[in-house]
Amino acid sequence: MSVAPRSPDACPALVLNADFRPLSYFPLSLWSWQDALKAVFLDRVDVVAQYETRVHSQHFEMRLPSVVSLRKYVNHARTPAFTRFNVFLRDRFACQYCGSNARDALTFDHVTPRSQGGRTTWENIVAACSPCNIRKGGRTPAEAKMFPARAPERPTMFELNERGRAFPPHYLHESWQDFLYWDSELEP
Ligand SMILES: [Zn+2]
Repeated sequence: MSVAPRSPDACPALVLNADFRPLSYFPLSLWSWQDALKAVFLDRVDVVAQYETRVHSQHFEMRLPSVVSLRKYVNHARTPAFTRFNVFLRDRFACQYCGSNARDALTFDHVTPRSQGGRTTWENIVAACSPCNIRKGGRTPAEAKMFPARAPERPTMFELNERGRAFPPHYLHESWQDFLYWDSELEP
């Protein structure tokens, strides 16, 4: 059996930090093959894995890198952006009321409803499946007798990265694709 090699443009490289974790999960850190090769030639990265696809020039032929790792560690000191994707990631893509992880049906719930002064913040937004969201309606957890599995709070970058590592790479990548169109910062 032979598999036709992908075209170079279908060969992005996953970029790992010097500790071999993805540089970022949100979005997943990917470079074009051109950027990846440039970084290889500048000695900024090591090649961890390669595609079958080769590129040629007069002077060399090489397989395109599928995974590269940075030689110098990049420190993420910033706090995570308050986006839909990051809220889902914090909540492990699971409804905080019933635990279901039907990705298609995942929505956001204001724990204290907006009608009762609840704000759109890390501390008041949780992932909820649409049946739970509808069932809870405009009620507080005490009124609805529905409490989030964990009290929501602002995660650190480290925590989000830890969550991200728990998912197979393609899961998050595909999730990101699904969510890209609406992953703007949430309105405060
Ligand atoms: Zn639910």
